[in-house]
Amino acid sequence: MKTLSQISLALNKGEVSSVELTKACLARIEQKNAELGCYLHVASASALQTAEQSDQRRRQGQALGELDGVPVGIKDMIFCAGMPVTAASKILEGYQAPYDATVTRNLKRAGAVILGKLNQDEFAMGSSGENSAYQVCKNPIDLTRAPGGSSSGSAAAVVADMGYGTLGTDTGGSVRQPASFCGIAGLKPTYGRVSRYGVIAYASSLDQVGVFGHGVKDAAMMLSGIAGYDERDSTSVNMPVPNYAGLLTGELKGKKIGIPKEYFIEGLNPEVKACVENAVKALESRGAQAIPLSLPYTKEALATYYIIATAEASSNLSRYDGIRYGPRLGEEHGLKAVYEETRGQLFGTEVKRRILLGSYVLSAGYYDAYYVRAQKVRSLIAQDFRKAFERVDAIICPTAPTPAFKLGEKTNNPLEMYLADIFTIPVNLGGLPGISVPAGYSKDQLPIGAQLIGKPFGEAELLNTAYALEKELNV
Ligand code: GLN
Repeated sequence: MKTLSQISLALNKGEVSSVELTKACLARIEQKNAELGCYLHVASASALQTAEQSDQRRRQGQALGELDGVPVGIKDMIFCAGMPVTAASKILEGYQAPYDATVTRNLKRAGAVILGKLNQDEFAMGSSGENSAYQVCKNPIDLTRAPGGSSSGSAAAVVADMGYGTLGTDTGGSVRQPASFCGIAGLKPTYGRVSRYGVIAYASSLDQVGVFGHGVKDAAMMLSGIAGYDERDSTSVNMPVPNYAGLLTGELKGKKIGIPKEYFIEGLNPEVKACVENAVKALESRGAQAIPLSLPYTKEALATYYIIATAEASSNLSRYDGIRYGPRLGEEHGLKAVYEETRGQLFGTEVKRRILLGSYVLSAGYYDAYYVRAQKVRSLIAQDFRKAFERVDAIICPTAPTPAFKLGEKTNNPLEMYLADIFTIPVNLGGLPGISVPAGYSKDQLPIGAQLIGKPFGEAELLNTAYALEKELNV
């Protein structure tokens, strides 16, 4: 295993070429993807071409930066011009992205080599990867287990050395939870830090593009590669993008780390609890101070999320009607049948469940009781965090309530599946940045992540705290 930052250095020193790295990744994909299900589309020819161009630039002393020549993968929610983009749904089968998402364009401008499109839960709805309409993605660490989701392929590809950094999306935990299950670093930036232009919308007030890498430095490098203001996304914020990796010192002296009691409830998996407690000690031994605190509205977060996310999803997914994108069914039976048959047959069960829930909470008779109330509770959850951050610099808690669960274990029980994100969802409701860092292993040798939560647009400080933790734990 080599990390993105090691690869970047090796490229810089001329120890390896981008073509060699790209070929090695493509060979592993060729060899193992049928079993692991990380990629839905592999762009071998264009990847090799970009790699050659990168090597040429480097030979002429014109390398574009740290990501130049680095092979990366992109979740299938995100547009790459000319490549298929399906959100792992049959309703978009055969659809090709007409343009690049801004994050894709940014990575291309940085010289990164795009290997292809990564598997996921359909429309990013799920926590295990099992809701992909094409193939179940397996956890490379234990093939009987889920890699987490919804960015299943993005996490698994990094572990399986099928890309040195990847992009995912995180609406309720879809970057951090799979990072925890796969034993790598996964960062969800602040709402507004990264453009979502060209990213398929799930729940627009929560969606954010996130990054994966073997370690914190890799995640930092990927974030610098994609972040920044974009006039095409009115929710993106105009703030300078630092060289996040360059700011990592591991220095924590005097920093205050909040321990929210609501995240350490009775019944929490003891191995997860032990790992996070150990992480707190590690931060303390680096000079940080642990401060107990309370985020009282935490217990309302899951219900609030499943009202807001489904409401927004039902609206966002109304555009898949068989007229504008993808396959069209039922044409011979008239327009109404086109809608019914296309949507009825090509959306998966979980997606339909969400659309039904979302339409229900938005319906005239229930709008105030559910949707309006959920918006109010959301403000209270955000306020909890604001108050906490008056006292502390970061918050630490588990990323997921358990290590990676078995494939098939939760597929018949949606509520159990929803609970996999209980610790990550509040961060999205608050619009805050969060990162999962490997913090140890269960007795079955399954990775366990610790989640650090930062202040809005405090990615530099958050990454530094995570870096200190990673160095101290040395997992
Ligand atoms: N598992 C959560 C859901 O299904 C979160 C997914 C995500 O972050 N995209 O909604």
